[in-house]
Amino acid sequence: MRILGIETSCDETAVALVTDGRLVAERLATQIDVHALFGGVVPEIASREHLRVLPRLFDELMAETGLRAGDLDAIAVARGPGLLGSLLVGVSFAKGLSLSTGVPLVGVNHLWAHLLAPGLVEELLFPALGLLVSGGHTHTYLVRSPVEFELLGRTLDDAAGEAFDKVAKLLNIAYPGGRFIDMLGAEGEPDTTLFPRPYVDNQSLDFSFSGLKTAVAKHIAAHPDLVLDELAGAKEVAGLSGPRRERLARVCASFNWSVAQTLKIKVERALARVGAVRSLIVAGGVAANSMVRETMAGVASAAGVRLTLPSPGLCTDNGAMIAYAGWLLTREGYSHSLDLEAVPRGHVVPLDWAVCGDKR
Ligand code: ATP
Ligand code: MG
Ligand code: FE
Repeated sequence: MRILGIETSCDETAVALVTDGRLVAERLATQIDVHALFGGVVPEIASREHLRVLPRLFDELMAETGLRAGDLDAIAVARGPGLLGSLLVGVSFAKGLSLSTGVPLVGVNHLWAHLLAPGLVEELLFPALGLLVSGGHTHTYLVRSPVEFELLGRTLDDAAGEAFDKVAKLLNIAYPGGRFIDMLGAEGEPDTTLFPRPYVDNQSLDFSFSGLKTAVAKHIAAHPDLVLDELAGAKEVAGLSGPRRERLARVCASFNWSVAQTLKIKVERALARVGAVRSLIVAGGVAANSMVRETMAGVASAAGVRLTLPSPGLCTDNGAMIAYAGWLLTREGYSHSLDLEAVPRGHVVPLDWAVCGDKR
């Protein structure tokens, strides 16, 4: 079965072809440079960029694979959650293709696709505990099968990736700064007394990262020399040297540690609650973080479950994960009519696999 995947939920425009569960080809255009100027994603600009780029990426994908749209078995599209205007570009494009070719449409929950993505590389073992740590979400799920997700915990305020990006911003590091915090932190030893592990002294499976961000903000306010003189991107961060780099590395390592330990505590709690699972799946942009990866390896091995982690390129938004989730759904007999709607958040349609609201 040949499945086209379309992803436009935020600031990556991406398409991919998955045939029988394997990635055949993909195209991805990131808008990071466009939004970096503004310190974050500007929704209006994001949708315009998707509109400009998506048809070209689709044409390139078809040219590379030598296929015509009518050769596809399904058109999978991320229907949410995400920015409404951005989602609408992908969903409308998918509908147009479906209408003109008669190929069935399948709407995909972007968050669940993140968690299923590593299935492109290795067999997923169910039931699984899923930890999604991305730019907009921090969720734990009991994943009974590729189509049965039960939300266990969620963030009450900032998402883990958002906390990384806000800390980067405080240091005058360009958006999205999570990867730079990771990189700098890997050079330093964490001071485990510097920042709190937020919202862990309770029985809750939920997360709250805003207090951690405030603690970092206070520390930076007390040590203003940590803040970089000019907005720093990859080149500037690479060029940092001397004592300032060392001090920054220590702060970043300590922040990485606080996030990773907080995730560890909540995941261990969730594992104890749900009983036997066969694997721990960690996905989303923050799953690319080296300390998070190392910490989760320890959690999985202590619990005696397999750890499934996407390669760093599969952690952040991509078309392959949408095509792959679309393949799993199509195999289970799911499809959507042309009434399919983009669902930015919080909207629940019972019995619909692609529900995006994740209501508990
Ligand atoms: P969502 O999937 O919730 O809608 P999103 O798609 O924007 O959000 P992702 O693309 O999964 O999120 O992840 C992007 C986030 O991951 C950003 O906040 C980014 O800073 C963070 N991130 C990426 N790499 C790393 C890293 N190595 N360490 C920490 N954070 C990282
Ligand atoms: Mg992105
Ligand atoms: Fe995402």
